[in-house]
Amino acid sequence: MPSDARMLIAVRVVVVTTLLLAALIIQYTVAEVLPIDYLYATAAVTYGLTLLYIGVGQLLQSRKINLAIQLSGDLLVETLLVYFTGALDSPFSFLYLVSIITASMMLYRRGGLFAASGAVILYGALGDLIFYNLIPLPQQSWIVPTAWTTSRLYLNIATNFAGFYATALLTAYISEKLQKTSEELDVNRQNLAALRALNENVVESIPSGLVTLSPEGIVTFVNPAGCQILHTDSRTVIGRHIAELGFFRTEEWEDARRTLAAEGVVRVEKNNFRVADDERSLGYALTPLNTLQGVASGYTLIFQDLTDMKKLEAELRLKDRMAAVGELSAGIAHEIRNPLAAIAGSVQVLKKSEALSPQEQRLMSIILKESERLNKSIADFLRFVRPQDKRTTEFDIAASLSETLDLLANSPELRPDHRIERHIAPPSFTLVGDSDQIRQVFWNLARNAFQAMPNGGLLRVSTEVDADSYRICFNDSGRGMSEVDQRRLFQPFRTNFPSGTGLGMAISYRIVQAHGGEIEVASRPGAGTMITVSLPRRAAATMDRNVDRTHSVRATG
Ligand code: ADP
Ligand code: MG
Repeated sequence: MPSDARMLIAVRVVVVTTLLLAALIIQYTVAEVLPIDYLYATAAVTYGLTLLYIGVGQLLQSRKINLAIQLSGDLLVETLLVYFTGALDSPFSFLYLVSIITASMMLYRRGGLFAASGAVILYGALGDLIFYNLIPLPQQSWIVPTAWTTSRLYLNIATNFAGFYATALLTAYISEKLQKTSEELDVNRQNLAALRALNENVVESIPSGLVTLSPEGIVTFVNPAGCQILHTDSRTVIGRHIAELGFFRTEEWEDARRTLAAEGVVRVEKNNFRVADDERSLGYALTPLNTLQGVASGYTLIFQDLTDMKKLEAELRLKDRMAAVGELSAGIAHEIRNPLAAIAGSVQVLKKSEALSPQEQRLMSIILKESERLNKSIADFLRFVRPQDKRTTEFDIAASLSETLDLLANSPELRPDHRIERHIAPPSFTLVGDSDQIRQVFWNLARNAFQAMPNGGLLRVSTEVDADSYRICFNDSGRGMSEVDQRRLFQPFRTNFPSGTGLGMAISYRIVQAHGGEIEVASRPGAGTMITVSLPRRAAATMDRNVDRTHSVRATG
């Protein structure tokens, strides 16, 4: 049974029972004769009908029909009660209003008008029937019957008519309004819940770190991404001052707050941000946090770990510069080699002339020899700057490394106080690539190491193999490099060695790149340098792409 049909039944039972009890109390205390028999009868009929309504309710699930049946029953019972207690003189006619109000509240305007019309018809009919003596009026000892005239009768019926309808419409208006308001409230409540869930989801799932701060700079909230970036958990962070987390030093915090008041946001990029024994690059923005009412309630700090991005950016920049060098050298090739060829050709023709003295012949030969030498130097230089096409084969990288080191050990560049220590294991390992170019890399790295140890020292060369790469490590005890030198290590034409060209590392970088590998540097001034070359054990895709790129650079030249 619908819940308000059940409620109507319960309320009715309560009302009737209360009426009955009240009448009984009055009967016995005031000791006056009341129409108590009719109340007994009404109560009995109501209780009987209650059972009927419950039965109907089990059968009919429709809320409207259930309520309509009950309200019609009520109107009938009320009419009977009114009839037996003096009809137009009955004190119980107000009960119609109760039914009309109930109908309006539960079924709104239509229900209210339905109940009001029922009441008007029943009450009016009853009045007419009695007035015209069509049915007898049960005599009541306690009622002094009014002397009804026609006009008084119609006035009475008309007043009731107006009262019933007015009650129905007013109550319906109020309850419809209430209904609408509560529906709106429900919608608002749902919206609010959805908004809150969205808010929390957004905050939880954005990849940036988010911290909220009290006006004093104490952390009040940190999101999961924030914890991850800072390598900590929210319990450790909440309650601490922002200066303790490394974002602002105490004096910077005061500055930041002042700037914030003027500019609305403070942006900072810190490259030496300490996170768990590691230095990271962090970018962060501090903004004021206001409540919905616009009251300042603290600050929000949004931050990102930029370390990987910066590394990528630096690599890209370097690649760009390398490409530029490639183009530049192609330009130089045209500018120098073409006139050189013309000079050499002309001299060759002149040299055949009979008119030249032996002395002149000799000078011509010098021109030819030197221009050939110059041509070769340029060719060498260009080969360095712009490596030739890779001739990819399977080769033994461990053997290539050993041979290159043997070669260097016997070269005049190595002094007696230079030592090489080798840890090459396994002694043989096959990779795919251009063995000549890889040898060139080893040669460059080892030579740099010895040039960095002008007063002698030790170069340790070791290898390492894992699931996807082959790593070669050149570890020297030389003078090391400053931060700035390390950053510029692969840039062409930067040299600190007396007879250097600044091309060795740039070329090595290119070659390793073309093989899909990486070069890393770790160094400290005065403490030596470690250069690590990692080559992929399977090098398909990257290699092909890089070969293509070399072609395209060549094509533009
Ligand atoms: P070059 O050897 O012609 O100077 P490189 O490209 O090989 O050019 O090296 C560039 C610069 O990097 C060197 O001039 C030197 O300052 C620095 N460098 C390279 N390797 C080392 C090393 N093992 N130890 C110290 N500095 C090095
Ligand atoms: Mg070098």
